This record gives sequence, structure tokens and C-alpha cells, in this order.
Amino acid sequence: MNECLFCKIVKKEQPAKIVYEDDKFVAFKDIKPKAPIHFLIVPKKHIASIESEKSEEVAKELISVAKKIAKEKGIAGYKLVFNVGREGGQFVDHLHLHFLAGKPVQLP
Ligand SMILES: [Zn+2]
Repeated sequence: MNECLFCKIVKKEQPAKIVYEDDKFVAFKDIKPKAPIHFLIVPKKHIASIESEKSEEVAKELISVAKKIAKEKGIAGYKLVFNVGREGGQFVDHLHLHFLAGKPVQLP
């Protein structure tokens, strides 16, 4: 009964180029990259956004995953972005952290 796109990716019901996975998080390539390297890091458990209750704890863990990915892939510098709400450029209501690296980035 869950229509959420990112929950489907987590459950492997929707294809995605997964670049990292552990017991709580999945990272995959953004289908519309805004930089040469553009991953989305999502918690496996559904949480809508930064505006959701207790999102701070999840956000902290998402940042840890971002650091781990950067280290694993040897990415020296990167940008981390949370879009919050439609007007903030969030179009999937499942909390995700944008990981961008490479050439200069145009943020939404
Ligand atoms: Zn979801």
C-alpha cells in the first residue's frame, strides 16, 4: 500500500543505481543529476521530511553516511543539501540528503 517512490527503491521494487547500502540507509544516483556526482541518501524507514518529528536524529545519521561514502569513493569535497517542502525543491516526500560533487553546482 506504500506508493512512496523512495520506499520502492529501498525495497528494490523500483530500479535505481545504488551506490551504498547498510541496514538503515540506501544511497543511489539521482536520475536528474545536477552535478557530475549526485547521490540521494535516504533512510530505509519512511520519514517525510526535515519538517517531520525527530528528523534531526535521522539527519545526523544521513550526514555520517555521506561522510562514509565520500571516504569510500575518495571524494575530497562535496555539498550536502536538504530540500524542504515543495517551495524548497523537495518533490519526493521521503527524507533525502543530496550529495553533490564535481563541477560547480546549480542548486534549485
Ligand atoms: Zn518512503
